[in-house]
Amino acid sequence: MTASSHKAYIGRFAPSPTGPLHFGSLLAALASYLDARARNGRWLVRVEDLDPPREVPGATDAILRSLESHHLFWDGDILFQSQRDSAYSETLNRLDRAGLLYYCYCTRREVAAAGGVYPGTCRHRSMAGSGAGALRLKTTDLPSPYTRLEGPIEFEDVIVGHQQQDIAETTGDFIVRRKDGLFAYQLAVVVDDIAQGVTHVIRGSDLLHATAAQILLFRLLGASEPRYGHIPVAVNEQGQKLSKQQGASPLDDSRAGENLFRALRFLGQAVPDALQHASCPDLLRWGVANWDRGQIPRASSRPASA
Ligand code: GLU
Repeated sequence: MTASSHKAYIGRFAPSPTGPLHFGSLLAALASYLDARARNGRWLVRVEDLDPPREVPGATDAILRSLESHHLFWDGDILFQSQRDSAYSETLNRLDRAGLLYYCYCTRREVAAAGGVYPGTCRHRSMAGSGAGALRLKTTDLPSPYTRLEGPIEFEDVIVGHQQQDIAETTGDFIVRRKDGLFAYQLAVVVDDIAQGVTHVIRGSDLLHATAAQILLFRLLGASEPRYGHIPVAVNEQGQKLSKQQGASPLDDSRAGENLFRALRFLGQAVPDALQHASCPDLLRWGVANWDRGQIPRASSRPASA
């Protein structure tokens, strides 16, 4: 047995309050919940409200109410990223002291013109005495003692299997604090997963490409990364991911049982027809007892209509 398999399971669902819960986000909530409960684990909810301009008033309450309507009850207190500034700042200071950060003044257009992978244009600048720029994390030519962390990142995704991602080819040095002063998702998610002792991250495959950067951050911070599992995302007729920004229709909380039934089927779980009109507790009980990661499809697809 490895050391990590002794650790008690801690999973989480981490919605951004950019709109109410829709079918796509229910999938991430349900899959992370079932994976945790099937292993007698804890299941936490973290509200990723670190981007006020993108936040929709009332969305946090709507999401939490929706989770409760579906009987997806979380453990402990909810963590709000909007209250975590000091933890994020401390981590940035730590990374800076280690010589891993630099200010960047490039525009989005300049980065896009370079092919989307940041070419390291601003690397020669130091953090001291600069301001008004974004902060980027060095991902190559790392100072000692971090050199051993360089190179492609490999991990075993518990759903989609072996992955190898090379940050140098996909994003290059990435932003950890934005030009407008807001902390970047990549930083916040890792700082919080460490603080909450998260052992398993089950989420949508739209975040699969972000995983290597997060793993690198865990390692640079001297923490071991959680296990990752990426579920297929639900798409609309145009093949686009259902998302709050795309205006995906909110879940009808008065049909919570039907929503759970559809979500279980979407996740490849062989829930019997007889449970089609079952209550949420009965569906969740079945889901926990029969949860099978191996049945989860790997490709995105359109959900069956309600
Ligand atoms: N807050 C992110 C989202 O809603 C999810 C972050 C994660 O699960 O790592 O897309």
